[in-house]
Amino acid sequence: MQGLMMDMPLLVSSILEHATRHHGSVEIVSRRVEGDLHRYTYADLNQRARRLASAFTRLGVGVGDRIGTLAWNGYRHLEIYYGVGGMGAVVHTINPRLHPEQIAWIVNHAGDTHLAFDISFLPIIQAIAPRCPGVQSWIALVDAERQPTIPGVDLVNYEEFLATGTTDFHWPELDERTAVGLCYTSGTTGNPKGVMYAHRSTVLHAYAAALPDSIGASARDTVLPVVPMFHVNAWGLPYLCPLVGARLVFPGPSLDGKSLYELFEAERVTFSAGVPTIWQGLLAHVRSNGLKFSTLQRTLIGGSACPPSMIDAFRDEFGVDVIHGWGMTELSPLGTLSRLQFKHLDLDPAAQRRILAKQGHVIFGIDLKIVSDEGQELPWDGTTQGELLARGPWVIREYFRGEGGDPLVYDADGTGWFPTGDVATIDPDGYMQITDRSKDVIKSGGEWISTIDLENLAVAHPGVAQAAVIGVAHPKWDERPLLIVVRAPGTEVTREELLAYYEGKIASWWTPNDVQFVDAIPLGATGKILKTKLREQFRDYVLPSE
Ligand code: AMP
Repeated sequence: MQGLMMDMPLLVSSILEHATRHHGSVEIVSRRVEGDLHRYTYADLNQRARRLASAFTRLGVGVGDRIGTLAWNGYRHLEIYYGVGGMGAVVHTINPRLHPEQIAWIVNHAGDTHLAFDISFLPIIQAIAPRCPGVQSWIALVDAERQPTIPGVDLVNYEEFLATGTTDFHWPELDERTAVGLCYTSGTTGNPKGVMYAHRSTVLHAYAAALPDSIGASARDTVLPVVPMFHVNAWGLPYLCPLVGARLVFPGPSLDGKSLYELFEAERVTFSAGVPTIWQGLLAHVRSNGLKFSTLQRTLIGGSACPPSMIDAFRDEFGVDVIHGWGMTELSPLGTLSRLQFKHLDLDPAAQRRILAKQGHVIFGIDLKIVSDEGQELPWDGTTQGELLARGPWVIREYFRGEGGDPLVYDADGTGWFPTGDVATIDPDGYMQITDRSKDVIKSGGEWISTIDLENLAVAHPGVAQAAVIGVAHPKWDERPLLIVVRAPGTEVTREELLAYYEGKIASWWTPNDVQFVDAIPLGATGKILKTKLREQFRDYVLPSE
């Protein structure tokens, strides 16, 4: 017997329709590349998204066609999310921090037919346009009077293009499994691979992200996503915020500590989200100017491990709760978030902090397990490390164009799991803690050393601005840890002080064998430490003899 309930497909256009009908006057504030602040509402967003869908339809864009974006967080980018996605085409967000050659490769691989860009990225367009013959128009996201030109390239103005559409466009009732978004993985090794999100996976992810022990945003929140809309849909916030009726504030291109702080205060932001490196800049600005946050209540930090010292700083110095989260492009991206449960409420603060420092607990929809090299499931004891596998309705099944073959591993009963490439522990309460990327873990005498633990401890030292740990060859133990440090400005911390700092905090055999000081640690396009580059840099390095 079948249930007798309405069969309404889960579509992103329904999120926008809901926001328009029930939160129509809620504001979206954007700092623009033009330099000013732009304000309008969810109702306005819907009108312009419909116009855009209509304009693209007139241009011949249809269901499944890919539209590229190279854009900051802002209202026009959001219009493309909904206009393009709502009409059944695919928003392909591209990371502008990648090398132009890689961007051209991605545009061609994706088969983008049109590409919209913020004018900050004009040099990229100049470099890639001749190499992307499939792109029929390059659309500049800027007021008509500031429209740039590139000799030999036909640039379209977004506002003029929008004016060719009409607001009476009707969102089609698509199959909910229709593709809506495409995002390529960072591709630290080999070519990046495309992850194709569906309407269904995107709406379910937005619901899950809204749960109280997840992001928990509400119609009382003002949300400022620092995490870019070109990196895994800004962690789902462009869908989650209209779903709950939260105010949205977009920072545009200004991501330095001072600009962010001013926007937080002026727009009374209550919730934000971003990678640890962004918060380092913000904390430094706030501290050095003796400032406080007057409205910010909580922030989601993930993308790479958030050091416990950063969680403490936010809470103890500024009264802001950090939600540590883990996810990946292949998971849309949310997998786990660290929030306390009833049984933790009477624990002492230090024990609570240890839980909150983990990458956290799954949200309904995601299941996790850890396995040995032979694929055997490992115990949830909080200490056994294994490769982390994930499954769920917003986890990838296959990369775009089948790249890399079948990515899943299968249980004997045929249940498929996505191997995340992360190494983790899971405790008896189900809290997961990442110890490493499997490629970065250090194997010393057959035992694993967590580089993340060593890095987190190092950055808690006041003399350290940034730290990375890599494994280097050792004649007896195969590999041993090398700590690489950028000193905090105005400090002269020494190798001996840093090595002594580990004493009593970790098993003594985990202590790095040496420390090297550098001016900068290489970061990838999404703010993660590029360990492949560091390993290259220290290829000829030899550990001091013991
Ligand atoms: P991306 O697909 O670029 O978002 O990268 C996903 C990867 O980032 C994960 O597989 C992890 O290795 C890493 N990552 C994300 N969040 C965290 C976190 N909270 N702690 C440690 N690593 C993280």
